[in-house]
Amino acid sequence: MSGMRPTGRLHLGNLWGALRKWVSIQDEYECYFAVADWHMLTTAYDRTEDLGSNVQEMVLDWLAAGLDPAKCVIFRQSRVPEHAELHLLLSMVTPLSWLENNPTWKESLAELSKTKHADIRTHGFLGYPVLQAADILIYGADLVPVGQDQLPHLEISREIARRFNGLYGGVLVEPRAMPTEAARVPGTDGRKMSKSYGNTVDIFEEPDSLEAKASGMYTDPTRARATDPGHPEPCPENPPGCSVFALHKLYNPGWEARGAECRAGAIGCVSCKGDLLRRLEEPFEAFRVKRRLYDARTVEGILQEGSVKARQKAALTLESVRKAMKLTP
Ligand code: SF4
Repeated sequence: MSGMRPTGRLHLGNLWGALRKWVSIQDEYECYFAVADWHMLTTAYDRTEDLGSNVQEMVLDWLAAGLDPAKCVIFRQSRVPEHAELHLLLSMVTPLSWLENNPTWKESLAELSKTKHADIRTHGFLGYPVLQAADILIYGADLVPVGQDQLPHLEISREIARRFNGLYGGVLVEPRAMPTEAARVPGTDGRKMSKSYGNTVDIFEEPDSLEAKASGMYTDPTRARATDPGHPEPCPENPPGCSVFALHKLYNPGWEARGAECRAGAIGCVSCKGDLLRRLEEPFEAFRVKRRLYDARTVEGILQEGSVKARQKAALTLESVRKAMKLTP
């Protein structure tokens, strides 16, 4: 079980951080992938105008990247109301201190409070780890593909499951982490790739905008000339590391030789960027072609069918939870 907030078109960070892993496990496991639109509301409840189109764009990217609805369940969270009921029931047993001490909540609160958007000191945002726990536990998920930075979230889900089981018997499955490939994908400015920093490269970026982004990409400020020795990897001389090199590591099988050339001052950044662009051409075009095979109606049909399947599975867990809590005879 895993999910993504519908933020519209996906970027390379999403692809290498999660989506590739999802595609690789769909043959082997029974997988549920959620469009986490309720989670979107926890921080962006004041910006819902584009929610519908963002859901659509994101699912199109999923399909083009290789998720196959014949092999996995793709659904929209808000169409599976069982998540909401389990969220409510789990809220009853989750101590407030677990949520208030959640480091991600504190950091996000500090970061997002600086923006002009709505006040996020809300019940919904404080309680998002409980909703996340409900998302996972409702499918009896034993494995959750997570990056290193997501491990604390999964830990809260595990704690909530343990607490619930301690109170009412072993009804809920305690999920374990399935670590995802930890590829570093910095943004065009060297910081973490994120839409909120405006430094992303879309997974299907069109050639013109891709070229513009590559030409402005952060490289190594210590290099004044092409013959100066470079620092492609993060190091004291170039703490973020070169963003172009990080992409070579993902798309260029000869990245080690490229790193050596850079360190020796044997290649200039302009040709290095040109080479990267040529290497991105083929995989990006393949994605673009595949993406054009699907349309809005196909996406709607997939979400509809997926939500029905998800509800069937979710209803079983919820029934056991209700029974364990003596809510049903
Ligand atoms: S030569 Fe390439 S790897 Fe080295 S700093 Fe320039 S862009 Fe980065």
